[in-house]
Amino acid sequence: MAIQNAERHGMGGDVYGKTPELSLVVPCFNEEASIKPLYGEVLRVLEAGDRIRDVEIIFVDDGSKDGTLTEIKKYAALDGRVHYISFSRNFGKEAALLAGLAGSTGKYVVTLDADLQDPPALIPEMFASVSGGECDCAAARRVTRKGEPPVRSFFARCFYRTMAKFAEIDVVDGARDFRLMNRVYVDALLSLEERNRFSKGIFPWIGFRTKWFEYENVERGAGKTKWSFWRLAVYALDGIFAFSSKPLAIASVLGILLFLASLILISWIVIEKLMGHTLNVYGWASTVCIILFTSGIQLFSVGIVGQYLAKTYTEVKHRPHYIVREAA
Ligand code: UDP
Ligand code: MG
Repeated sequence: MAIQNAERHGMGGDVYGKTPELSLVVPCFNEEASIKPLYGEVLRVLEAGDRIRDVEIIFVDDGSKDGTLTEIKKYAALDGRVHYISFSRNFGKEAALLAGLAGSTGKYVVTLDADLQDPPALIPEMFASVSGGECDCAAARRVTRKGEPPVRSFFARCFYRTMAKFAEIDVVDGARDFRLMNRVYVDALLSLEERNRFSKGIFPWIGFRTKWFEYENVERGAGKTKWSFWRLAVYALDGIFAFSSKPLAIASVLGILLFLASLILISWIVIEKLMGHTLNVYGWASTVCIILFTSGIQLFSVGIVGQYLAKTYTEVKHRPHYIVREAA
């Protein structure tokens, strides 16, 4: 478990002198305004239930440029259960989640967004089903996309459909990274050391028993989303390249089809010649079209191969997933 051992930050979390029952991992990027409401809501939910007693809350500051870290430190000073890991720059949500999981010590771990879009009110129910042995992972899935721009929802749906066709794994529509997991599940996640981390694919890939909890979409509490349309599109493509080699197969099939077409054309020309027909000299436009078409397909295919090469390049460099500036 290389990631886990190398990057446990010795933060303990065992203020009770024993392993906490539940670790909450919260990735934060410019979430200054969200920390207070989230902390308040988490405490409210946990105090209302009587089953979850010992907790640790790990905030992962993903290179925020605002006062997120100061805000987190404020709560860490007040409450011994609050810990933090702060990155040297923005490494992305996947890296933040990974750092939080690696730093967590609880028997169970839940990952949730800072903006209250993952309602902490679901935690007791999720905890009950995982700790009761009903499943290894309780995952939340939003059944509506209320409040989201329609164009975004449309492309999201296209993405899930494409993923279902391309990848050999089943990516669930509306699934969030809001998951409560047992230790075996967390260790399995940490054992995957790939640099191109695409959680939506990694979760189904590792298997285990997952129970789905459905809920209505909740709009962001404060601040604004970090996902521009462009960033989402790149993320979607990353997912396809990380979990499927079908694009390479498509490039090969296109190549074969074009080759067959050329064989047919060549045979036709040879037969015409043998029959003594003179081939007319027209066809300049069609020749140009054919050249453009084939060179387009060639570039497209080289691009696909390049994508896989680039991914392999980042993997073999073996750089760390993130760099921690400070943690406590
Ligand atoms: N986040 C992060 N690093 C990033 C982008 C986002 O840690 O580079 C965190 C962010 O602070 C939030 C969560 O990931 O807690 C989800 O981000 P956001 O709410 O922007 O995404 P959305 O809910 O719109 O999908
Ligand atoms: Mg959000």
